[in-house]
Amino acid sequence: MSFLSKSLDRIKPSPTMAVTAKAAELRAAGKDVIGLGAGEPDFDTPDNIKDAAIEAIKAGDTKYTKVDGTPAVKAAIIEKFKRENGLSFEPNQITVNSGGKHTIYNTLMATLNPGDEVVIPTPYWVSYPDMTLLAGGTPVFVETSIDTNFKMTPEALEAAITPKTKWLIFNSPSNPSGAAYTAEEIKALGEVIKRHEHVWVFADDIYEHIVYEGFEFTTFAAAVPEVAHRTLTMNGVAKAYAMTGWRIGYAAGDPALIKAMAKVQSQSTSNPCSISQAATVEALMGPQDYLKDRAAVFQERRDLVVKMLNEAEGIECPTPEGAFYVYPSIAGCIGKKTPSGKTIETDEDFVTYILEDYGVAAVHGEAFGLSPHFRVSYATSNEALIEACTRIQTACSKLN
Ligand code: PLP
Repeated sequence: MSFLSKSLDRIKPSPTMAVTAKAAELRAAGKDVIGLGAGEPDFDTPDNIKDAAIEAIKAGDTKYTKVDGTPAVKAAIIEKFKRENGLSFEPNQITVNSGGKHTIYNTLMATLNPGDEVVIPTPYWVSYPDMTLLAGGTPVFVETSIDTNFKMTPEALEAAITPKTKWLIFNSPSNPSGAAYTAEEIKALGEVIKRHEHVWVFADDIYEHIVYEGFEFTTFAAAVPEVAHRTLTMNGVAKAYAMTGWRIGYAAGDPALIKAMAKVQSQSTSNPCSISQAATVEALMGPQDYLKDRAAVFQERRDLVVKMLNEAEGIECPTPEGAFYVYPSIAGCIGKKTPSGKTIETDEDFVTYILEDYGVAAVHGEAFGLSPHFRVSYATSNEALIEACTRIQTACSKLN
């Protein structure tokens, strides 16, 4: 339709949201579908956070706030960065937005000019390339593989940097692979960034609290203090506090960049929801002990899913350090035929097969830039996971 903006031709709708919608549609039509597509915890938002929001409504905290966050939420975020990451910030270094996705969007809109390059390791979270394109930039992909546990090497990073590079988007633990970088691994990447003074780092730490077996999370700016002044550290309440619907993300970094992001926000959404900001103060300042308990539940599910998927013929599933995703290879299924005679040529064919014939909704690897894989979100009950993995095992055993 010629009425629509040409910039839309550069992007596609979020494929992860499309899978969730398709699963819901099939379910509404009466089909028994298990959804492994959604990137949100199945836990509820803790009561103390809900209560803080109710109190905020009663207290009349229902009006516009400062564009990029109330003084109270900025103070809570500053405290969080000090307590958990050893990073110190002033209020003019903090921005609060309507979800982590919005933080990334503001960042790219505020910084990219046509031709600017954004280095994005594969497999990547689906929105990074599309938001880069929408903002007029060019994504430059750094390929990783199952053999390096989906981690980018310093050599590969070095090779991707050009005079036009503006950002490295660094997401650890990763959506979709679950891979998390150790402090040593980040330092090695930091050596490369140190040499290229025009390159900034966008650290997407949204899965910080979902790490396993004593893995110690380190954020980029803490591991490489020499580049902290050109690092934007992003986080949010969605995944850690089961607050996906509340839409609060935030970031900390250079004051001039933060101010530019507020300019973008002031002409689009204005402030993030006043009530959600009050709830975020409680999330960040209230009890934190349940974060470890929830991570332990996720770890049990990860172990279950990794074991069962590795038992499926043609699937190889590494054990990730964090997030709530696994990213198995289906190389062993490619070229095989389904009982109805269709050949599995791509990972999209595979996820279509398991959805249509076995009622399991997952997202194909092509959407995350690394094939042939698929992403399983295990943020659902053990029961549902056992049933889904059993169906995948059956689906694989029927291929020949
Ligand atoms: N970053 C990553 C890697 C994600 O997986 C997500 C959500 O799926 C986000 C950022 C954005 O989260 P939200 O906008 O819900 O805060």
